Amino acid sequence: MSNISQITSISKQILKKYDLCDHCLGRFFSKQLNLSSNKSLGKKLKIDYISKNKCYVCKNLFHNLDHFLNLMLDSSSNYVFKTYGVGAIIKPSIVDRDDFLRSKYKLKGIDSVKTDITKELIKLFTKKTKKVMDSLDPEITFTLNLKDESCQLRTKSITISGRYVKSKRGIPQKQKSCDNCFGKGCRMCDFHGISEFQSVEGIISKLFFKKFGGTTTKFSWIGGEDNSSLVLGGGRPFFVKIKNPSKRKSILSDENFDFISLFNLKVIDTSPKKPLNFNSIIKIKIFTTSQIDSKNLKKLKDLTSTPIVIYEKSGKRFEKKIFDVKYKKNSKNVFTMTITAEGGLPIKRFIAGGDISPNISTLFDTPCMAQEFDFLDIIVE
Ligand SMILES: [Zn+2]
Ligand SMILES: [Zn+2]
Repeated sequence: MSNISQITSISKQILKKYDLCDHCLGRFFSKQLNLSSNKSLGKKLKIDYISKNKCYVCKNLFHNLDHFLNLMLDSSSNYVFKTYGVGAIIKPSIVDRDDFLRSKYKLKGIDSVKTDITKELIKLFTKKTKKVMDSLDPEITFTLNLKDESCQLRTKSITISGRYVKSKRGIPQKQKSCDNCFGKGCRMCDFHGISEFQSVEGIISKLFFKKFGGTTTKFSWIGGEDNSSLVLGGGRPFFVKIKNPSKRKSILSDENFDFISLFNLKVIDTSPKKPLNFNSIIKIKIFTTSQIDSKNLKKLKDLTSTPIVIYEKSGKRFEKKIFDVKYKKNSKNVFTMTITAEGGLPIKRFIAGGDISPNISTLFDTPCMAQEFDFLDIIVE
């Protein structure tokens, strides 16, 4: 018996017991015949047959594809994208009936009903929008729930690198999370995870939400500073990931806000996988409890000859080098020290002492305190 007549005979056997739509019937045999349209094959196989009931497998879901296409078009209407992917959630009962027929009639190596629905939706969406389907790394992913007729959208995050300069004291680097959701994102914070925008993090996030849309931002900072610290020179580098952006491109230029300026903003592929090595030039104003002895001041120069060892509560220890020290006495109890140091040296502890050696208080043999410290520059290696 030839392939064709065999198929016609099995198809007749199936149709005798089960009403099937063109799509489902065609799908059972199209692979064997190397045909791309399940629907037209199904139509041919059903030429002498009149359907009386809904499709046994899909309950005529395929008649309703335009409705789901419209859901996709509506939900993505405010997004700018070139590539997309589609996932579908269908009723388990449909999958069960499909599996049942496939095993009963020994139909092997065919698409599942879910795969076929997804394929059909991709055909329709691409035809309508000229967007390109990309299953591996799409810019936008639709998850169509055919059970409750809803469509969820997710977009690929984008990462931006840049630098910021902070020219006024009292601005925190990080933003406090939304009180209601603790940063996860909720209706009250517009799904941003933060509801106020007064910090460096908040100001940068707000700018990018405006330019790219998106829900939350995630920052990787190259070092940190106190609220009272200035960040000067070329500024501190940062990387920020914007989740679920609605746009992928925007003109980025230097930005000036009150006391915060942003430079070198650019969209990059990913943020660096390993922490970057960097050095900071830091100007520290130090108050000493006893009067400053010039002999002690001279000792500061020796700080470049040994690493500073920092002991953590966890028992870990790490070392940071100081490459250069300059100092200037301001008054009997105050001097200014400008150091070039490896990034990550805890400045306040280095001055006050406390599981860090050498430190300024021990060196001067009197309690010392960092009144303020500013970053004059941050140099990434
Ligand atoms: Zn069907
Ligand atoms: Zn919230």
